[in-house]
Amino acid sequence: MMGNLRRRFPGRVGPAGPLLLGLALLLPAGAGCQPEARSATSAIRAEEFDGQRAMEWLKRQVDAGPRVPGSEAHAATRRILTEALGPDTQVQEFTHRTRQGTIPMANLIARFGPTTGERILLCAHWDCRPFCDQDPDPAKRDQPVPGANDGASGVAVLLELARLFRKTPPPVGVTIVLFDGEDWGRTLDTMFLGSRYFAAHPVGGPFRYGILLDMVGDADLQIYRERHSQQRAPAIVDRVWAAAAELGYEEFRPSIGYTIEDDHIPLLDKGIPVIDVIDFDYPPWHTTQDLPDKCSARSLKVVGDVVRQVVYTDPPAD
Ligand SMILES: [Zn+2]
Repeated sequence: MMGNLRRRFPGRVGPAGPLLLGLALLLPAGAGCQPEARSATSAIRAEEFDGQRAMEWLKRQVDAGPRVPGSEAHAATRRILTEALGPDTQVQEFTHRTRQGTIPMANLIARFGPTTGERILLCAHWDCRPFCDQDPDPAKRDQPVPGANDGASGVAVLLELARLFRKTPPPVGVTIVLFDGEDWGRTLDTMFLGSRYFAAHPVGGPFRYGILLDMVGDADLQIYRERHSQQRAPAIVDRVWAAAAELGYEEFRPSIGYTIEDDHIPLLDKGIPVIDVIDFDYPPWHTTQDLPDKCSARSLKVVGDVVRQVVYTDPPAD
């Protein structure tokens, strides 16, 4: 994605950042959960979201190599993700024409729960950026982004949710879509290729609303409301942030942080209220250092639990 506002929060670059991270590592697993979080999650008759399992999915994608469209790692990962989503996964193929040739791309689509009625769209991008244009070392800027957080994190959360949905079908139809070609181009007109294609050729709907997950694995997770989402789909933002509050997850901050151009824009333009859940305060963004050691199972669980809560408590009580 691209943020047209690049902002650092003081705590992130000052000494407080590493100190807080160190403290978090000292805490026993699950110590961050509030008591009410446990009761809220256990009230849902579904499997617990396993952050470690999600983390394994994140690492497996990174281990496959940068998932740059046209590469072997991209083709291999497409097979892995298609299998992981289940035997009925639909592969929506499309191509992107460049001066160097035609690049094959594919959105991966899987349905869960009831087959009738309006559905919830859950999405993330599975491709990697072909170049590390933000790397501090100019010699590395032609290398592809490893994409641990920028890509793999959102996919990892959705794959773990897919496991839950298979075990306990959600009360509402859910369609997971993994978009290709999000991070392809140097300019906005050659980005979000998969979500643009999907918006023009929608399948797996009709959609009542959607949640896009992007860069949700940062070990120092702080998710602010994204401005386009807040302006164009405020009820969905409120719903997701309310679920986070019910679970006691203060990583979801109440204020607006950034304005982000991402896969939700083509869907919003199509009339589907899709919000972007994103932690854009991530120093390794678009660098060779976007690696699993910057991410955590705990962060994936926070986001996974919030989406799980939204889906399994649909429709909301109010
Ligand atoms: Zn990116």
